Amino acid sequence: MSILCRIDDKHVPLYRVMWVAATPHYCGEEDCLREGSYEVRLEQEESVWAKAPEHEELLAKLESWQGGLGGGDEGRNW
Ligand SMILES: [Zn+2]
Repeated sequence: MSILCRIDDKHVPLYRVMWVAATPHYCGEEDCLREGSYEVRLEQEESVWAKAPEHEELLAKLESWQGGLGGGDEGRNW
């Protein structure tokens, strides 16, 4: 079982994720590189920025990871 999720070219362990933005970043700056990306807050005031497909995958992984805590890993397909 992998507890890593790839976000912005980094493999982030799920247990390091504090919270995940529900809406994409928007600040109105014309040259903002993060517009449309979702902030993923990690421990130690670090953030990574997930594109929409990465954000979806991360949420799905977090849900099955938390639901699977303490249970067996058999039958997982990721
Ligand atoms: Zn911005």
